[in-house]
Amino acid sequence: MGKIKDYRIATLGSHTALQILKGAHDEGFKTICICEKGSERPYQSYGVADEIISVDSFKDYFKIEPQLIKKKAILIPHGSFVAHVGASKAKEIKAMHYGARGILEWEADREKQREWLVKAGIKVPKIIKSPKEIDRTVIIKFHGAKGGQGYFLANNERQFKERIKEFPDNDGYVIQEYIVGVPVYTHYFYSKLTGELEIMGFDKRYESNADSIGRIAAKDQVDANIHTTYTIVGNSSLVVRESLLPGMFEMGDQVVAASKKLVDGGLFGPFCLEGVIDPELNYYVFEISARIVAGTNPYIEGSPYTALKYKEPMSTGRRLARDIKMAIEGDQLKKILG
Ligand code: AMP
Ligand code: AMP
Repeated sequence: MGKIKDYRIATLGSHTALQILKGAHDEGFKTICICEKGSERPYQSYGVADEIISVDSFKDYFKIEPQLIKKKAILIPHGSFVAHVGASKAKEIKAMHYGARGILEWEADREKQREWLVKAGIKVPKIIKSPKEIDRTVIIKFHGAKGGQGYFLANNERQFKERIKEFPDNDGYVIQEYIVGVPVYTHYFYSKLTGELEIMGFDKRYESNADSIGRIAAKDQVDANIHTTYTIVGNSSLVVRESLLPGMFEMGDQVVAASKKLVDGGLFGPFCLEGVIDPELNYYVFEISARIVAGTNPYIEGSPYTALKYKEPMSTGRRLARDIKMAIEGDQLKKILG
């Protein structure tokens, strides 16, 4: 039987690192945090890292990778890995790392994401093929836009033409139907070891300035020429109407089943469906993340949903570490490494 003391859990110091490293400690692992110089303080202050490796930039990950390999560290890729090192680079990771190989490329490409969701039978917002066809409120999303920065809204072709002028150097965009409703982000965990799909919780994003615009009168918004932006600042916790849960479990199953045709062995571990629920209770999904999302951070002590299932506080970070622990102790580590 493998022993967890022979391994370490490592991640980049941003996004969900506090939660991942704390969860690893709770399951008995030693931890390593890779920090950009000057960003070490939270990981020291909260005592979650047994070791810190500092780099000038996360892009230098591959320079320190030999140290991780030597220490038998298992890397957990998260949103900052995708944003700062790159989803395509995930395939070049030589250190042990959690998650299905190649799956991050599916989340990094909007067209691939959509193909996955549609194949899974999930409702997605309509795509408007050309500005001429704008017949409703639409959201324009640039390729490579990070964290909702630089999106804009338009109601017709004229508005589109006016607003696109502000982005002369854009590298392409998609025009999507804007769904009026409440944003709901559903956090899942699917374990290959237990074969079970769990809903870990939900969050709602707090975005600037979309979530603050209502603090001033509509007339002031117009006078100040404010355009809606969606830069993520933080997340708040949410529980959903209980009658929505059966459908949400089904959506998770469908996404996992569809992923088996995309990458070898299919998606496993934490993932998230990100969308808006309209007044008819349709859940339109505009994005899928195939790894832990930062919206799980409010639940370091567990969510109302994990409290139903577990006797101890269970964050998504800890659930990840538990999966790794089960794999090590059951000599099935290969099953969960990318
Ligand atoms: P950062 O390391 O803060 O630059 O985050 C990397 C990427 O992860 C960002 O580009 C965001 O898309 C995403 N992200 C970071 N923090 C959050 C959060 N609290 N909620 C949702 N997404 C986030
Ligand atoms: P994303 O980068 O795709 O996660 O989108 C950032 C934010 O834009 C989301 O959290 C939503 O608030 C908003 N958003 C994106 N797409 C839509 C849509 N089709 N309808 C309504 N809101 C959207």
